Amino acid sequence: MKLVHIKQIKGSRSLYGSFLYIALLPLFLFGIVMMIYSSYTLRGNIQKEVSDNLRNVGVAVLSAYETSYEGDYNVIIVDGDVEFYKGDVLLSNDTGLIDKIKADTGVEISLFFYDTRVLTTIEDAEGNRMVNKGVNSTILNTVVNNRTGCFYNNVLIGDERYFAYYMPIMSWDGLTCLGMIGTAIPADGVSVMVRKSVLRNLLIILLTLFVTAWFIMHFTSGLIDIIKKIMKFLSEIAEGNLATDIDTVVVQRTDELGEMGRLTLKLRGSLRKLIEKDALTGIYNRRYGTGKLAELIDRGIPYTLAMGDIDFFKKFNDTYGHECGDAVLISVSKTLGEYMRQYGFAARWGGEEFLLVYENMNELAASVATERLLDQIREILVEHDGQYHSVTMSFGVAESRPELSMDDNINAADARLYKAKENGRNQVVS
Ligand code: GH3
Ligand code: MG
Ligand code: MG
Repeated sequence: MKLVHIKQIKGSRSLYGSFLYIALLPLFLFGIVMMIYSSYTLRGNIQKEVSDNLRNVGVAVLSAYETSYEGDYNVIIVDGDVEFYKGDVLLSNDTGLIDKIKADTGVEISLFFYDTRVLTTIEDAEGNRMVNKGVNSTILNTVVNNRTGCFYNNVLIGDERYFAYYMPIMSWDGLTCLGMIGTAIPADGVSVMVRKSVLRNLLIILLTLFVTAWFIMHFTSGLIDIIKKIMKFLSEIAEGNLATDIDTVVVQRTDELGEMGRLTLKLRGSLRKLIEKDALTGIYNRRYGTGKLAELIDRGIPYTLAMGDIDFFKKFNDTYGHECGDAVLISVSKTLGEYMRQYGFAARWGGEEFLLVYENMNELAASVATERLLDQIREILVEHDGQYHSVTMSFGVAESRPELSMDDNINAADARLYKAKENGRNQVVS
C-alpha cells in the first residue's frame, strides 16, 4: 500500500559529517594555534635560558680572573702580537682556567682583545685553537663600543653556528673597553633541544585531539543511530506501513530524541485511527476489513464470515431523529467490537451493516458464537433523550470456501443475512 511517495533529498554531507565538522574543525584550529603558540614560547624560553646560562658562565670567567690574578687588565703589543695581561699574568697563554670552566659547564669560552679573539677553547678541525679571528661589526658596536653584554642566536665561528653571549672587559678605571669575554654553545644542540620539546608538545596536542575526536565521534554516532532509527520508522510510515514499530531504545530515551520517537509513535496511532477506524463508531472500517481479509487469505488462514444488519434501523432515525440512530450505531458497534476481539474482528461494512470475521473457526462454531453475540445485543438499551431503546440484529453466517473469491464469500454471508431478514429478523442463519 503506497500512500505517499516522497523523493529523498540527498545532501552532499551526512548529518554525521556535519556533526564532526562542527565539533572537530574548531578543535583542529585550536590545536594548530596551540602548537604554534607553544613552539613560539618554547623557543623563546629556551633561548632565554641559554642566554642566562652563557652570561652566568661569562661572569664566572671574569670573577675567576679577578680572584685568581691580582692587578689590572692591560695590553702590550709585541711585534704586532697582542699580549693581554691581568696583573702580571699573560692571559693570552692561560688556557688552564678557561679549559677548566669549559669542562665544568660545557660552554666554549673566548677572550678577546678589543674585537680579536686571543684565547679560546674552540678548536678547528685540526684541533688548533681558533685565535686571531675578529667578530662582526654588530657585536663590535654593541659590546665593545657601547659596552653592553649581548646575546646572539646565530654567530658563525669557523664553519659552525653558535648561540653566544659577549660581555665587555673594562679597564681598571671603567672608562675603556679593552676586550670581551665570549661564551658560546653550538646552535645545533639547542635546536635539537627545541625540536625535541616542540615535538613532545606536538605529540601531546595530537593525542588530546585524537582522544577528543574519538569521544565526539563515538557520542555523535550514538545520536545519529537514534535519528536513523526514527527516520527508518517514519519512512516506513510514509510508505504506508502502519504496522511497523519503532526501536524501543528510542522511546526509552529521556531527551528530545526520545520525545521525537514518542511523537512519531503517536503520529502512527493517529494515522492508523484515521485510515482503519470508522469515525462515528470507532470500530474498524470497511477498508481495514477488506485489507485484513486479504491478508488472511494470503496466509491461507481459514475463516467464517457473519454479515449483520440492524433490524428496522430506519425507525430510529425516522421516529427519534438521526442522532438517536447514531447512538444505536455506537452502542451496537461497541458490543460487536469488544465481542469479536476474542475470535477475529468486526468492521462497519456500510450504514448499519457489519462484517464479523471469525479466524480459524468453522461455520458451526461461528454460528454458536454469533447466537451468543445476538443475545448480548438484545440486552442493549440505548439511552437517547431520556428514553431507552432496545435493538435486534439479523446475521447470515457462511464458512469461507478457498476456491471462491473474497467477494463471493462475502456475498454468501450476505445471502444468508437476506434469508434471516425474510424469516422475520432477530436471528442467525447459517
Ligand atoms: P431492515 O430491518 O430491513 O434492515 O430495515 P432498516 O430500516 O434497517 O433498513 P434500511 O436499509 O431501509 O435503512 C437503513 C438506514 O440507515 C437508511 C440510512 O438513512 C440509515 N443510515 C445509514 N447510515 C447511517 C448513519 O451513519 N447514521 C444514521 N443515523 N443513519 C444511517
Ligand atoms: Mg437494517
Ligand atoms: Mg441495511
